[in-house]
Amino acid sequence: MTLRVIAIDGPAASGKSSTARAVARRLGWAHLDSGALYRAITLAALDNLGEKAGEGGTAGEGWSAQRIVGLADGLPVRLVLVGDVFRPEVAGVDVEEAIRSERVTRRVSEVAAIPEVRHWVNVQQRDAALRHHAGVAGVVVDGRDIGTVVFPDAPLKVFLTASPEERARRRLAQRGGRVDPSELQREAAALAARDQADSTRAVAPLRAAADAVVLDTTRLSLDDQVARVVALARDRLPG
Ligand code: C5P
Repeated sequence: MTLRVIAIDGPAASGKSSTARAVARRLGWAHLDSGALYRAITLAALDNLGEKAGEGGTAGEGWSAQRIVGLADGLPVRLVLVGDVFRPEVAGVDVEEAIRSERVTRRVSEVAAIPEVRHWVNVQQRDAALRHHAGVAGVVVDGRDIGTVVFPDAPLKVFLTASPEERARRRLAQRGGRVDPSELQREAAALAARDQADSTRAVAPLRAAADAVVLDTTRLSLDDQVARVVALARDRLPG
């Protein structure tokens, strides 16, 4: 049976998760945020392997691929379907809020560049989607490599983009922070650094699949972008 998947990829703060969540709600599908798994593993590593391990660039010995994947299996780190949303858990505790911290955001791209971690996350994502296939009409999955690597046969792939300034503005607005020019500049630089790391890594770099619909959302409202994806879904995945 082919899994009904909509893949939504794009750079940091391009509105992937908000769009994916709203599209899933409109279609009555489940939502899976793959970044949440990378973040949950990063949180687990920070809490169990020491904060300082990776300072100065690459991860230290304590942050070896083997130890990180061993932790993810052992604690465990996993996705649990609650209602129509897959939520990240570490050792049985919901970490949806904790994984959004600055401390995790700063280190997540480093962890996501480790091939063994990517393999582990991909197995979890496919398992979660397949396990719940009978219970849900379909799954909207968002990330960086969903259309290119994780679900290359997805009948609809969308790649969201937006200007760096607009993405920084949205991220700050989401946090409820003051949006003064210097803060905006700092946020745009942090997003650009994460995009650079995600786009240039050796394994599964951030890029649009050849058959993805590219949607520049710089001048679109969330409602507009959701409506566009829902229209594409109704067209490509009737019934
Ligand atoms: O989407 P979000 O910003 O929460 O993702 C956090 C990080 O997880 C990204 O910067 C990227 O390094 C990694 N990621 C990834 N592949 C995905 C989803 C997220 O490498 N499919």
